[in-house]
Amino acid sequence: MTSMWPESLAPLFALAHPVVPIVGSGDKGFPVRRIYCIGRNYAAHAREMGADPTREPPFFFQKPSDAIQYVPADGTAEHPYPPLTKNYHYELELVVALHKGGANVPSDKALELVYGYAVGLDMTRRDLQRGMGEQKKPWEIGKAFDHSAPIGPIHPASSIGHPAAGAIVLKVNGQIKQSANLDQMIWNVPEQISRLSEAFELAPGDIIYSGTPENVGPVVKGDLIECHIDKFPGLNLRIV
Ligand code: MN
Repeated sequence: MTSMWPESLAPLFALAHPVVPIVGSGDKGFPVRRIYCIGRNYAAHAREMGADPTREPPFFFQKPSDAIQYVPADGTAEHPYPPLTKNYHYELELVVALHKGGANVPSDKALELVYGYAVGLDMTRRDLQRGMGEQKKPWEIGKAFDHSAPIGPIHPASSIGHPAAGAIVLKVNGQIKQSANLDQMIWNVPEQISRLSEAFELAPGDIIYSGTPENVGPVVKGDLIECHIDKFPGLNLRIV
């Protein structure tokens, strides 16, 4: 990708850049360029959001890359309850990490872009998201706020393959809330990458939150969120 700004300039100050640990890579991490998210990618979740779950073209939104909150595997991270909301929701998602880019990537070549996968949460201020939607205004305030993208370590596809099926389960305070299978995605990972690359030129460091299954719901301060996707270690958050 060609930069459209003068790269010869020295930055006035340094900017922090999010880097996510890679399983088995020691102190080498995965630098995050952009965070893309796909909306309503499981039929039952599309229905609970009041949408028609037919195979309409997928739609995407972004979070700022510094919305990343790294959550160590099998530990419990403290996640701050954000301001302005009274209806703060979890959305458990498989995250896809790209180490190659491209535009108009065909589905049958899309997995060549994938470096690995992680467990992530697309945390959502649902009341603000819905309120903006009803007013036909942008969603950012509901989706793209600070710490809204918890993520576990990245597992290289060279070690875990490309998970296309497997249980995806979220518990709150020990109670199962979300329970589905990755094979229930409306648009699978290669199709998501292909469609996304028609709208945006993808680049190394882009990550994609691949959508959440049904039964999203609220959490409050003190709640423990436990996330499981087959083949991955757990990801746990305490809301504080
Ligand atoms: Mn989501």
